[in-house]
Amino acid sequence: MSTSSSIAQALTGIRTRIEASARAAGRPASGVDLVAVSKFHPQASVIAALEAGQRLFGENRVQEAAAKFPALRTRWPDLRLHIIGGLQTNKALEAVRIADMIESLDRPALSDALARAADRAGRLPGLLVQVNTGDEGQKSGVRLEEADAFINASLERFGPAVVRGLMCIPPHDQDPTPHFRTLATMAHRHGLDVVSMGMSADFERAIACGATLVRVGSAIFGARPATPQTAPNGT
Ligand SMILES: *Cc1c(COP(=O)(O)O)cnc(C)c1O
Repeated sequence: MSTSSSIAQALTGIRTRIEASARAAGRPASGVDLVAVSKFHPQASVIAALEAGQRLFGENRVQEAAAKFPALRTRWPDLRLHIIGGLQTNKALEAVRIADMIESLDRPALSDALARAADRAGRLPGLLVQVNTGDEGQKSGVRLEEADAFINASLERFGPAVVRGLMCIPPHDQDPTPHFRTLATMAHRHGLDVVSMGMSADFERAIACGATLVRVGSAIFGARPATPQTAPNGT
């Protein structure tokens, strides 16, 4: 596990690199938000990042996010949590309750579940449509050829104040740049502002292609432990 000072130092380094990449792309650094991906890391690491000024976090699993984050909102009311992992419909209600944004809307059944959950919870987080730009069989994300229709349907159903943009995870064995370009072009075509792409290994390239959210985990928190955290203090 990384120490708090190494997490603070890593955050400073990543923020500097984000600013430099934005500047190189002729964009204001304020146009790129850093999502600190804390999955599998203990709540103590999240607290270290909060103390270093980081406010926006990403988690893959709803259960792990629910164990780590809600209690922190008392001390850090401006904390924001994004769910970035593939979402099962039976987790939709919990996700709607705890998240500020769900980045992985990718199928009509999940839209239905989120709409029902929003009725029950009385709130609905922002949504990003996840696009499977590599058309990989196993991966979450709407398939490329169905993406335009699904984005239109999602916008019609939830409105542009809720459906804010697009997210992708390029195939790990390919040059990510064409995938980043595809996603940014698609977002632009639909008039969507938020483009979530780029991870520890490639966030600078993503910014060059127009990312407005980069999701960085291991470059901040170090190598991931082998299992998720299911209790706040780590189990
Ligand atoms: C784990 C994860 C990340 C962060 O990956 P790193 O390589 O550790 O930066 C980003 N996005 C998603 C969807 C993830 O699951």
